[in-house]
Amino acid sequence: MKKLQMVDLHSQYLNIRNEIDKGIREVIDSCAFINGPAVKQFQENLERYLGVKHVIPCANGTDALQVSMMALGLQPGDEVITSSFTFIATAEVIALLRLTPVLVDVDPGTYNIDPQAIRNAITPKTKAIVPVHLFGQAAPMEEIMEIAREHNLYVIEDNCQAIGCDYIFDDGTTKKAGTIGHIGCTSFFPSKNLGCYGDGGAIFTNDDELAKQMRVVVNHGMTVRYYHDYVGVNSRLDSIQAAILNAKLPHLDHYAARRREAAAFYDEAFANHPNLKIPGRYPKSNHVFHQYTLVLEGVDRKALIDYLASCEIPAMIYYPVPLHLQKAYLDPRYKPGDFPVTEYLCHHVISLPIHTELEEEQLLYITHNILDFINQ
Ligand SMILES: *Cc1c(COP(=O)(O)O)cnc(C)c1O
Repeated sequence: MKKLQMVDLHSQYLNIRNEIDKGIREVIDSCAFINGPAVKQFQENLERYLGVKHVIPCANGTDALQVSMMALGLQPGDEVITSSFTFIATAEVIALLRLTPVLVDVDPGTYNIDPQAIRNAITPKTKAIVPVHLFGQAAPMEEIMEIAREHNLYVIEDNCQAIGCDYIFDDGTTKKAGTIGHIGCTSFFPSKNLGCYGDGGAIFTNDDELAKQMRVVVNHGMTVRYYHDYVGVNSRLDSIQAAILNAKLPHLDHYAARRREAAAFYDEAFANHPNLKIPGRYPKSNHVFHQYTLVLEGVDRKALIDYLASCEIPAMIYYPVPLHLQKAYLDPRYKPGDFPVTEYLCHHVISLPIHTELEEEQLLYITHNILDFINQ
């Protein structure tokens, strides 16, 4: 059996090696390393795939979030509501810009931000909501957009984990996650669902003015060459990374299907087990399974992870510490117990290997070993 990994980038590469190598070689031959044709091409390819008017490529997902908040003109002291159960980058850029992160709890089934908790957190200072489509499943965007309309707030979707995911509206129409709010952000970190071979990111919007402003911000706040009207940043997608993404984008839907197949295998093995809670499905989204994350009930998580390690099965905890209990983000507004669902999840979740090249033999081995340990 092939060695198990959380993500098997090498096996994936071998299946598309010719396309990738050709793309990289073309960039090197042209020496158009910065903002070369591959970047523009990727921008257009992704606009078409997502059905969104503007894609602004940038250096990584964290920058995408930061640039969005800069372009919206948010000011120090403005409050930005986001989930307490997410990767740190979401809150990090809020703090960096001297905005005030306001954390709210999540739904215990889907792990995504709870709309009622958003409502309860709104104050006159609230300016934006940043829902995170965690682990590959969209947050309840219709409710979130309704709250935003009522209170005149911006919505920035952190779509770093859910590129390719569809959101299904009440009327049956669909949109890609990340294209529903005012702005969507994504990351092309290698292990993400659409990953490049280094760092990369992009911002999406249907708003012409916002797109224009974000293109200025990512380019040193420059409107005319060497005339800087705003304080900006330097955030570009490398041409080589864009070429890799051009080769990978046509495979994205197949990759999502492969991830769903693996998830369905896990679901079937673990459903109805008294100690295991399979990831809840939000019916208005088709999960793209950036992670497959179980909740353990009455299982010694550390002992299970140690046992799996002894079987050469990797497993990870996303995320072990809620944002409000991270040392750098300790705040007198928050204390342990404030976000009980998030805190429970941090203590009980485990994420299993999931990627586009998992084989049935590997899935069988993983599920058997987990069940052996838990049923022993
Ligand atoms: C990966 C990720 C980011 C940051 O992306 P980078 O490209 O690593 O900067 C932000 N938010 C979430 C939810 C992520 O998973």
